[in-house]
Order: sequence, then C-alpha cells, then structure tokens
Amino acid sequence: MTEETILIVDDDIRNVEFLRDSLLVPSGYTTLCATNGEEALRLALTEEPDLILLDLQMPKLDGFEVLEALKREGGEIPTILITAHGSERVAVQAFRLGVRDYFPKPFKVTEIMEAVERSLAEVRLRKEKQQLAARVEAINRQLEQRVKELEILYGISKSVTSLLDLDTLLTRVVEATTYVTGAEEISLFLLDADTQELLLRAIQGVGDQQARQVKRRSDNAVVRQVMGTGQVAMIHGPRSHKTDPLQATLAVPLKTRGGTIGVLCASSKAAMQPFSDNDRFLLSVLADFAAVAIENASLFAEVEEQRSKLETILAGSQDLIVVADDEAGVLLVNPAAAEAFCLEAQQAAGRPLHDVIGSEAFDRLFRGPAAGNGTRNVELPLMDGRVFHASLSPVADVGCVLIMRDITHLRELDRMKSDFVASITHDLRSPLTAVHGSLRLLPQLGQLNEEQLEFAQRAMRNVEQMDELISSLLDIGRIEAGLEMEMASVRLEEVVEEVVANLQGEAKSKGLDVDAVIADDLSLVRGNHTRLVQVISNLLDNAIRYTPPGGKVLVRAGDDGDEVWVSVSDTGVGIPAHARDHIFDKFYRVEGPGTLDSEGMGLGLATVKSIVEKHGGRVWVETKEGEGSTFRFVLPKMPADSSEG
Ligand code: ADP
Repeated sequence: MTEETILIVDDDIRNVEFLRDSLLVPSGYTTLCATNGEEALRLALTEEPDLILLDLQMPKLDGFEVLEALKREGGEIPTILITAHGSERVAVQAFRLGVRDYFPKPFKVTEIMEAVERSLAEVRLRKEKQQLAARVEAINRQLEQRVKELEILYGISKSVTSLLDLDTLLTRVVEATTYVTGAEEISLFLLDADTQELLLRAIQGVGDQQARQVKRRSDNAVVRQVMGTGQVAMIHGPRSHKTDPLQATLAVPLKTRGGTIGVLCASSKAAMQPFSDNDRFLLSVLADFAAVAIENASLFAEVEEQRSKLETILAGSQDLIVVADDEAGVLLVNPAAAEAFCLEAQQAAGRPLHDVIGSEAFDRLFRGPAAGNGTRNVELPLMDGRVFHASLSPVADVGCVLIMRDITHLRELDRMKSDFVASITHDLRSPLTAVHGSLRLLPQLGQLNEEQLEFAQRAMRNVEQMDELISSLLDIGRIEAGLEMEMASVRLEEVVEEVVANLQGEAKSKGLDVDAVIADDLSLVRGNHTRLVQVISNLLDNAIRYTPPGGKVLVRAGDDGDEVWVSVSDTGVGIPAHARDHIFDKFYRVEGPGTLDSEGMGLGLATVKSIVEKHGGRVWVETKEGEGSTFRFVLPKMPADSSEG
C-alpha cells in the first residue's frame, strides 16, 4: 500500500473517474480530484499531492496557468500533462514549465501508469534524500551541541583541577554544576575521613533556613543510596517532605580509586522530568573531574599540614638540624643551625654541605665510623667554642640528616670531674705511700703471728690496688693535659710486635691464640711510642680478658688513604648494644657475666680514647654480643715532608 496522493485534474468528470477508479485507486494510490484549474491550484497548494495528472484545456484556469501559478507560489509538484490538443508548441511549453511527461489524448493506459510510476519513483527518491539530509543535519546539530558542552566541561574541569584550596574548589564545582544542569539548588556532600560522616561542604541556590534543611538531607534516601551504591540516582516527582519545594534530584557519586568520597546533588523545582540523560552524562563527567580535583586538594592539604608541622618542630628545636641530598647539597637548615653557622636559612639551600658546616667539621663527620644503619656519630667543636654531638644518618629517597646537640656543658662537667679526680688522687697519694711504708716495716717490729701476717698482707694488697688506681687516674690526667706526649715518627708494626710479645705469655696461659697480621710497607705515624704501646696493650689485654679459653685474638694493621689503622679482634663475649656508647667513659664496666668477674677499673678504654684523640685519631668498636668484638683505631699518616725525630 503506497501512501502517495495523486491529484487528477480534468474538466471532463468521466476522464477523472476513469483515471481514479480504473487505474489509480486499484493500484493503491490515494486520489484528489478537480474539474477546473482554480480548484486544482487550491488542492495542489493545500494538500501538497505527490503527483498531478493535469488536463490542459479547462474553463477559468487552463493547465499552463495552473502550472505557472504553482511555480509562483513555490510549489514544485511533479506533473504529467494529458491533452486532447497536443502540438509541438504545447509540448515545448509544457516541458519548459517543468512537466515530467506529456500525453496526447487518447492515451494508452499502460503508458500513463508507467509514467505515474516513474514520476513517483523520482518523488520517493527525492523525499528519501530530503529525509536523509534532514537526519544528517539533526545529527550534526546534536554533535555540535555535544562538542560545545564538552568544550565547556573541559574548560570547567581545567579551572577546577588546577585549584588546590579545597573550599574554593568545592564552591567552583557547585557553580559549574549550576551552569551545566541549570538546576535551582546544588549541594555537595563529602565523607569525613575521621568520623565517616557525610557532611554538607558546599551549597548554592538556597537561603540559610533551606540550607539547614539540606544539611538534614545528608541522611536522606537518595544521598545515602548514591553513597552506598556508587551509582547515579535520578528522582522525579514531589518529595515526601511537605515544606520542600524541590521536585526532582539528580545525584551523582564523587568517585576516586579508593571508592566513593561524596555526592554531588542537583535539585530542581520543575515537576516534570527536568533532567535529561544528557544532564546525567554531563554531571557524571563533571563529578569525575571534581573527585580527582578534590582528592588532589585533600592530599595537598595533608602534605601542607605535615610540612607546616615539621617546620614548627624544626623551628622549635634547640638541636641544629641540616638535611642534605645524596650529593651532600643542603636542602634545609633549621633556625638553630642557621644561627650557629651564621647564615640565613634561605641562603643555605642548594649550597654544598661542607660549605655550610665548614670543611673541617665535614671531614670529621664523614671520617667518623658508620654504625650498622649507616649513622655516623662524632664530636664536633664549633668555632664559637661550643662542642656538639653530631649524628649524620642516611634518609631513604632524600639523602641524609645531620642532627647536632650542644654538649658543651657535659664536656665542662667532664673537665671539672677530671680536675676534681686529679686533685683528690694527688692528695691521696702521700697518705697512701705512708700507709704502704708502714705496712712494709711492720714485720721488722717483731715476729707477727699467722693471723696478724694475713691481715697485714691483705691490707698491703688493697693499698697496692689503690695505688694502681691512683696511678691510672693520674696517668689519664697527664694524657688529657697533653703531658708526657712527646711526638716522634713511630713504626706501628714495631709497637704491635712489642705488645703481642709482651702479652703472648698471658694469652697462652689462658689457652688463647694471638696472631698479628700487618700490611707490608705500613706508613709511619707521628706519635708517642710509649703511649701507643699503652693503647694497643689495653686493647689486647681486654681482648684476652674478655675471651674465654679456646678463643682467638687477632691484631691487624694497614693503610687506608691518609690514615693508618690498627684493629684488635676477638671471639669473646662481645658488648651489648646498650653499653656501646659508654664503654669509652671512665669507670664504665659492662654489667654481666664474662666481664664483671674479670678484674678491672673501667679506665683502660678511656685511656685509649684520650691517647688516640691526642694523636688526632679516632677509635670505635664493632661488636655483637656473644660473638666477639673488633676495636679499631685510626691515626693520621706522618706527613711526607716532616722530618723524623
Ligand atoms: P676494664 O678495666 O673494666 O676492662 P675498660 O675501660 O678497659 O675497663 O673496658 C670497659 C668495659 O668494656 C669492660 O669492663 C668490658 O665490659 C668492656 N670491654 C672492653 N673490651 C672488651 C672486649 N674485648 N670484649 C668484651 N667487652 C669488652
């Protein structure tokens, strides 16, 4: 069944009826009929038939006049002319007026029907073309609109994602939502990370009173639904709340990789479907951008908070703190450090560490022994006379941090203690010598019985021990004062051999093996032979005392850069971690089996440290409890141009 309409025009009604009833209606066409030109023109203009079968000779308006009038009115309807008065001239004029076909009467039915089909096929084709063009145009318009919307969204998202202040960002997001959806009220809820409560963080388009209502809405069904499912929700129709004039809500989740962090709601008063699928799409895209921006801004705020906390801590610290990168370029100095090194905190950044703390301090620091975790601890005197305990620790992905604590007062106390001990010991010496002399003379006064003799001998042993203690203390005092420290060139291999020979007997008697391995061509050092014998003796004596029978003791010496090193290793009891920082202190002895049952006063290592430091060297220990210890000290090599003597 075709839907095409054909207008039949002929002043002879019989012709009209014939064409209509015998040909066109049976073929399925709809027909309109006119028996004069005027009616034909009216029907053509009002009904817009698909084809006109037009007679030429008619009263009032003839066929040509109808065609001309139609042309004037802009109507372009395919026409087949049928006339009893055909001629060459008529045919030419007809075609000039756009007639498709021309048939003189009497016509052949088949010819007419073929012509009708031909014309209508053209009409159909033209209609399809027009429809297609209209569809393409509509799609184009839609695409243009979409591109425009996306451009706007892109612009909004660009301005939103560059914001780092969370409150400004949230305000901008709700403004953008108003712009994109045209909704009357926009609200943005965010999940509070600490309380896990959904809080209203930004709102637009409502007064204070309504804002309070919106606040309540954070626990309403749609917001909770979106928060729970992470899916967009669109509701239309009146809300249950009577005073709430808003009729429709479009709520989209704000999602990050970690989950849903909030909900963005657009609400409108319009009762009938005010939000389209396109609104839903646009708001979802905007919400995705907004979520990323909110996450960025929150992270930035967190980092800022940490940074400002750290800055407050650094600013308030009395310790000097310097952070440097892997190339020892300064990244940060705290105010205390800036003041100590006489510079502005900002000036220090980017400068080499040795420039900031001074190359002497830098050298001491990096020459210091590194503990297992890479931390170096040394004592650093500064130009202003203060003494610092400096600790340089590696920091992963940053470089290192130097923390310096002022220990000037501790050193002062140390000095006062040394002075006190020195004067006391000095004063003790004379009465002790008198007691010692008297005890020695006692047997000459007459025969002592067994008990008297035992008391006298015990008193004598104690006096000798005290004398030894006083000698050691006086000795340390002299070392600290730099007395008896005449320097000359010393061959450390000779010192090592002398000490090993001296203590070999003691080691053997305890069932210990003592070996010495000394590098060939060991460099000379500038030092005091006697004091250096004392250093290695104390270390070797300790190694023998604190190593159970059957163990091994090894003394080694070698060159390293511009230093000479000596180490004394044993397979003995080792030193617990808590004691390692104290063993070089005076009178410190480790509490525990294997040490306190051995005789000693806790002065040996303090003496070693004093002597080594007087030689410009350093001493430290590497040890593991129960597995043994290695004491190592380094001394600067004797400069090549200094003369022996
Ligand atoms: P002491 O007279 O007690 O040996 P030192 O100053 O020589 O005094 O040593 C201090 C403490 O260090 C000792 O009491 C001991 O606990 C510990 N110590 C020293 N050397 C060793 C070592 N080789 N092995 C284990 N512990 C040691």
